[in-house]
Amino acid sequence: MKNIGVLTSGGDSPGMNSAIRAVARTCAHYDIKCTGIVRGFQGLIENNTKVLYTRSVRGIINRGGTFLYSARSDEFKTKEGRKQAFKTIKENEIDGLVVIGGDGSFTGGLIFMEEHNIPVVGIPGTIDNDLYGTSHTLGYDTALNTATEAIDKIRDTAISHHRLFLVEVMGRDAGFIALNTGLAIGAQEILIPEVNMSIDNLINSLKRSKSAGKTSTIIVVAEGDKTGNNVFQLADTIEEKLPRYEVRVSVLGHMQRGGSPSCFDRVLGTQTGITAVESLINNEKGIMIGINNGKINKTELSKAIKGKTKINQELLRMSKIMNT
Ligand code: ATP
Repeated sequence: MKNIGVLTSGGDSPGMNSAIRAVARTCAHYDIKCTGIVRGFQGLIENNTKVLYTRSVRGIINRGGTFLYSARSDEFKTKEGRKQAFKTIKENEIDGLVVIGGDGSFTGGLIFMEEHNIPVVGIPGTIDNDLYGTSHTLGYDTALNTATEAIDKIRDTAISHHRLFLVEVMGRDAGFIALNTGLAIGAQEILIPEVNMSIDNLINSLKRSKSAGKTSTIIVVAEGDKTGNNVFQLADTIEEKLPRYEVRVSVLGHMQRGGSPSCFDRVLGTQTGITAVESLINNEKGIMIGINNGKINKTELSKAIKGKTKINQELLRMSKIMNT
C-alpha cells in the first residue's frame, strides 16, 4: 500500500471527520500517501481529489458533517460510472479505498471492489445504527444526544400546556433512535418499525395515563413506524378517538444528523479509521470495521449489508415499567 483513498458517501453523520482524520494521520504514520476524494463516489467519477497530509485534517475532529463532503451518485450505480471512477483510481495510483457510509455506500464499494479488483474497507457512518456487525455506527450516539436534548425542550411546552406531543425521530427501517431516546426522555409510548403497536393499544395506554392523572404526554415515533400511516395521521386518529387530548406533532428531521460529535463518536471514528488503514496494509479487504462490547471487530461487507440488526426489545419492556 503506497496510497490509500478515503471518501464519505450517503447521508453525513457526526464522527465522519474524526474517521477521515484518523485515516489521514495513520497513513502519515506508516508513510503512506492519503488521497481524499471529495463528494463520495461522484467525486471519484469526476476525479475530484486532494492529498491529505497530517495538517490537512487539523481542527476537524470536533466538527459535524464531513469535511470531504458527501453525495448520492446515481452514475456510480452504473457500470459505465464505475469504469470512470476506476480511471481516477488508476490516475491517482490509489491502491486501496476506505469508504465511510451506510449500507448503500457499502453495496457500491463492494461492487466496485469485485469489478475492478481494488481493495475496499468500510467504516459504518450513519446515524441510523442499521448495520449488522457493529453495536454502534458513527454518528448514532451523537444523534441520540441531539434528539434527547430536543425532546427535553419540547417537554417544557408539553407540561406548560397539558399537551400530548408526538415527536418523530429518524429511523425508516430501524427503531434504535426512537427506542433509546424514548427511554431517556420518559416517553409514554415508543413506536418503532420493528413492533406494531395497534391503534387500540395506544389509545388504551393514553386512557390509562389520563386516568392516572398524567397531564402531559410524549410519544416518540420512529419515521418508519406502522401504527399510523404517518405521524400526522396518527395525531388525527388520536384526536378523533380522544377529543380531550390536545395533540401536537413535532418532526425533528435533519437536525438529528448535525452538530459536534459526542466523545463516543470521536473515539469510535479514531479507532475505526486507524483499523481501516491497518487492515488494508495487512491485505484485508471487503470488510467493515465496527465495534462490539467495546472492542473493534471486523465483519464481511456482504454480511454487514445483508445481516439483520436487532433492537433490544428488553428496553421496550422496561419503558412500559417506567410508565406504570
Ligand atoms: P445512509 O444510511 O445515510 O442513507 P447510505 O450509504 O446507505 O447512507 P445511499 O444513498 O443508499 O446511502 O448510498 C450512497 C451511494 O452509494 C449512492 O448514491 C450510490 O452512489 C452508491 N450505491 C448505493 N447502492 C449502490 C448499488 N447497488 N450499486 C452501486 N452503487 C451504489
